[in-house]
Amino acid sequence: MKSAWIERDARAAVERYGQAGIPADLALRVYTTQLLGRDPKLVLHGGGNTSVKLAMTDLVGEETDVLCVKGSGWDMGTIEPPGLPAVRLKALLKLRAREAMPDDEMVRVQRANLIDPSSPNPSVETLLHAFVPHKFVDHTHASAVLALIDQPDGEARAREVYGSAMGTVPYVLPGFGLAKQSADVFDRDPKVEGLILARHGIFTFGADAREAYERMIEIVTRAETHLQKNRRAVFVSGGVPQQAMDVTEIAPVLRGACAIKDEKSEGAFTRLILEFRSSETILNFVNGRDVTDYATRGVITPDHTIRTKNWPVVLPAADARDGDWRGKVRAAVASFVAGYEAYFARQNARVGGDRVMLDPAPRVALIPGVGLVGLGRTRKDAKIAADLAEAAVETITDAEATGRFTPIGEDDMFDCEYWPLEQAKLGAAKPPPLAGQIAVITGAAGAIGAATARLFAAQGAAVALLDIDAAAVATRAREIPGALAVACDVTDARSVGEAYAKVVTAFGGVDILVSNAGAAWQGRIGEVDDALLRKSFELNFFAHQTMAREAVRIMRLQGTGGCLLFNVSKQAVNPGPAFGPYGLPKAATLFLVRQYALDYGADGIRANAVNADRIRSGLLTDEFVKERSQARGVSEKDYMSGNLLGREVTAEDVAQAFLAQALALKTTADVTTVDGGNIAAALR
Ligand SMILES: [Zn+2]
Repeated sequence: MKSAWIERDARAAVERYGQAGIPADLALRVYTTQLLGRDPKLVLHGGGNTSVKLAMTDLVGEETDVLCVKGSGWDMGTIEPPGLPAVRLKALLKLRAREAMPDDEMVRVQRANLIDPSSPNPSVETLLHAFVPHKFVDHTHASAVLALIDQPDGEARAREVYGSAMGTVPYVLPGFGLAKQSADVFDRDPKVEGLILARHGIFTFGADAREAYERMIEIVTRAETHLQKNRRAVFVSGGVPQQAMDVTEIAPVLRGACAIKDEKSEGAFTRLILEFRSSETILNFVNGRDVTDYATRGVITPDHTIRTKNWPVVLPAADARDGDWRGKVRAAVASFVAGYEAYFARQNARVGGDRVMLDPAPRVALIPGVGLVGLGRTRKDAKIAADLAEAAVETITDAEATGRFTPIGEDDMFDCEYWPLEQAKLGAAKPPPLAGQIAVITGAAGAIGAATARLFAAQGAAVALLDIDAAAVATRAREIPGALAVACDVTDARSVGEAYAKVVTAFGGVDILVSNAGAAWQGRIGEVDDALLRKSFELNFFAHQTMAREAVRIMRLQGTGGCLLFNVSKQAVNPGPAFGPYGLPKAATLFLVRQYALDYGADGIRANAVNADRIRSGLLTDEFVKERSQARGVSEKDYMSGNLLGREVTAEDVAQAFLAQALALKTTADVTTVDGGNIAAALR
């Protein structure tokens, strides 16, 4: 591992932050924290923290000694000075005299001694940083160090590699106990350059930012060098399929198996998003004959448990010739869930029975022949789970190549998984109503499609935006974090198939289709060109059918129901003069909604439609509105509000109607009118 310190950049950081009144020590603390945070071999998703001790003027002008320590919610790779809240050092040091301290009290004391009360909560490892007297303290969960110490004789190995340069601290849950124990180890030999925390990670110290950082790099490099020596071949290959299934066939089956039925609301599920990963190292790992042994011993460092759970689910080899693969996957997941429930019951009884079980679905799946999958309630959570699983694959591979991977035991894992301070990192907010659901929206570059995509994403859905205009849809998708843009011609079955394959590969499946793409053609029906009428049928009817048919196929593989939503139009029930080429296929699509509702209700798949009218969009451009209103001698506002309520209807209003239908679990074959009121277009 190479040092990433660049003297010029360090000086630039001091200069830049200095202009904002940030002292040089804090500027350099930010600089090296970013260096550590940007290297996934050192720090992944909150797995690490740093601090610096300095003097600062408090809010009433008194000079005081403080510890600036990483605050929760900040990513080390992108941290800025407000991400290192200042806590009064004297108050923290006073706590060392205590024998024990409950977590909630520790958090309150830390908060009560913040220089700025609006700061984020200081790290759960704040006291350890405070008790070590060095000015700069760096902490990581470096992969190579974990491979060295996650061993039955981890401490002896650390001593063999580091001699007396590093102190070793036996495993203890982070918090007051670990801080006190680490400080005791340090006091026994204050010459150490850092501490190895058994089965957890590494601390290094220094008088300046560079010294603490370079020591981290050096200590990790020594672990890497050690791991390269005396390696033996690992993982004898096991039941690898001769003909591996495609990810697009695997994902919906796995996703459906991992969805947990909501017992309180019939038809509702706790669903997850999937993130696939594969590489030579991952395949070597998942294809191993003994994968169910080495892969399920536990987490490489305790705080992974809140993201990955303590074990992955190991699936049967994904063999395309296996006719019962779906049944086997469901059995494997059911067995994982039963195992998790038994683990929780056993452990909860041990700690007094007052914990509430988290959802028991797996967060990592290993698929021999294919790779690994991270699962999460959001796309971001799924990616985090996959990143941590990839790190675990590398660390366990190194640990097994040089010894035997041996993580913390079940009691310690439970204490960490159900530690309120760990759960607090995930945030206690109630998930939004579409959390975990995957929505495919066609015509997403247009006004109604884009408004629907924005609204569904804001309600927690992972959204895929489809449109024939690749550039326009890419622009729309960039406005929505985590959204996927897919160029798709909905009138071409092959293009539709490819689009769904992209969505399933990126997210794992589909729960909601908003079949919205359409275009209006005009002509008096007795005179209209046949080719034009057929063209309109291709887009305004057959494309809805193709999109729905493929969505239903995937939904049935998942086995958790689903929702088809169609943009129909008032033309379907209330034809306008010379609008036959548009109204006829839309009328057929209205019937299509009912047919899907009828044929797939038993699968829990709902089909609903929105009849919208007179909305500014690609069909009704601003220019057209201007022209029509002038022709009628009314204002644009009066033209657009020419309905019973006298209100202009917007794309956002249509999106709200789609959302209501998506959430109405007991409603199917419904047509919702969004037109401000037009009695001739009212359904009866
Ligand atoms: Zn840690």
